[in-house]
Amino acid sequence: MNAQIVVVGSLNLDRTYSLGRLPREGESLHATGHAVASGGKGANQAVAASRLGADVRLVGAVGADAAGTLLLDAVAESGVDVTGVHRRAGDATGEAVIFVDDEGQNLIVISPGANATVTADDVVSDDAAWVLSGFEIPDEAVIAAAHLALAAHARFVLNPSPYRRIPDALAHSIDVMVVNEHELIDALGTSVDSSSDTALLQARARLDVPALVVTLGADGAAAVTASGVFRAPGRVVTAVDTSGAGDAFTGALVARLASGDTLESATLFATQVGAHAATRPGTQSSYPTSDELDRWLR
Ligand code: ADP
Repeated sequence: MNAQIVVVGSLNLDRTYSLGRLPREGESLHATGHAVASGGKGANQAVAASRLGADVRLVGAVGADAAGTLLLDAVAESGVDVTGVHRRAGDATGEAVIFVDDEGQNLIVISPGANATVTADDVVSDDAAWVLSGFEIPDEAVIAAAHLALAAHARFVLNPSPYRRIPDALAHSIDVMVVNEHELIDALGTSVDSSSDTALLQARARLDVPALVVTLGADGAAAVTASGVFRAPGRVVTAVDTSGAGDAFTGALVARLASGDTLESATLFATQVGAHAATRPGTQSSYPTSDELDRWLR
């Protein structure tokens, strides 16, 4: 049986507008396409893990509006337990407005809405074995997620994205930190040569976490512990849409860790799921089940 994963994170309605080019300041443009989809980093990661067979519960907040209903239905359809997602009568559901041009360049504006109302009180005690949280919700809720992990003797995984200063209260409570290359630079406050094992070992020591996992886009990922650096080379694919690949990676990583995999094996697996997500449009809709992934890898 899989150990339970609790994701304490965000849910957003993603509104994507396709445009020939991105707008300039003060300019009005006509979109050539418009799509609405279930998103938000917490929801994406929960869906990625659940599709792969993990037992996942999502804790967060949406508004008592149509967008909130759409998100809850979409996430539940992927098998995620959404009983911990609160509905706020006075708040709108979080939204991400995404402009994408013909070259795949994007501009994203996030309106946090109900995500900004997640408090420690929403993060109730649970029999979790793994707890995952990120930065699209207030610090207070992320710290409560770490406390929940401590009380349940669970492992705590932090994905500090979008990056902001990591609260001091999280010191020594993070078991695994997952970052992309930009977030790693932000967390260290200096540039890092991620092709250098020495640099990654120093980064882990400075961040003072037992395990640091760095995603490297098409180059896969690196898992860094005190005993060394493991590099998963990544899968060569024709990327169609890499949005949400990082969330697919993180959800898959935690799903495998919860099923008892080593950090190295889970990292290798997660790069395959990230690559799969990059070959399909959309975020949650690009996340594979175990069967779909097996067929794709054959
Ligand atoms: P983020 O989406 O947070 O910026 P990355 O770009 O590092 O994160 O992507 C996360 C993971 O998705 C990578 O570790 C890799 O496994 C996979 N991935 C992303 N882009 C590609 C690509 N172009 N080709 C193959 N795999 C990719």
